[in-house]
Amino acid sequence: MNRYNREQFEALVAVRRHLAALPEKAIAQLRKDIHSYLEFREDVDVYLKKYFSLVCARQCYRNARSACCSREGIITFFADVVVNALVSGDTRLEELRKTLQEDRGGPKCVYLGPEGCRWRVRPIVCAMFLCDAAQEQVFASHPEAAGAWRELEGRRKGFTWPDRPVLFDRLEAFFLARGLSSPLMYLHNSPGMLMLKRKWREHP
Ligand code: SF4
Repeated sequence: MNRYNREQFEALVAVRRHLAALPEKAIAQLRKDIHSYLEFREDVDVYLKKYFSLVCARQCYRNARSACCSREGIITFFADVVVNALVSGDTRLEELRKTLQEDRGGPKCVYLGPEGCRWRVRPIVCAMFLCDAAQEQVFASHPEAAGAWRELEGRRKGFTWPDRPVLFDRLEAFFLARGLSSPLMYLHNSPGMLMLKRKWREHP
């Protein structure tokens, strides 16, 4: 197993193990904590369906030009793994685990299956990726979509960007406090993210 897959695999297995050992009350609290994030993700999906699904289907999938979902092309945050585990059934998570374990390589993301992405709630980096060509085309014909996209980008930061207390940081801290550490905990590992948190603490 290559390093990318191993890190993903270990995070997934460890999150499932920890969640399985938590009391029902703690799981319920975690589900409550991610509720507004899931609402945000639904809004992103509605937006993408409304403005981008046709363009992406025509330009990329039918013409086989897609640069999306390329191998090891995305960062997966630890919180992505947690959110997805909290909303997915065992069968689906087991499928993800096997996919990582049995990966045979190739040009596309390990998670891309015949019916699309195997995650129930895709990593945030994937959900918010729009290539320049698609943006130019859509925003030229739907100027209101550009403002709506900026609004969604702002909401995303409210969950992921630690220049204030954010969900993605809290979820990492929750598992760190229980002895689980992972290279996917970028909000606790990445120098850039740590600097943001330091600045926020010094000037809240
Ligand atoms: S959307 Fe899914 S298949 Fe595509 S890059 Fe993201 S994780 Fe991989």
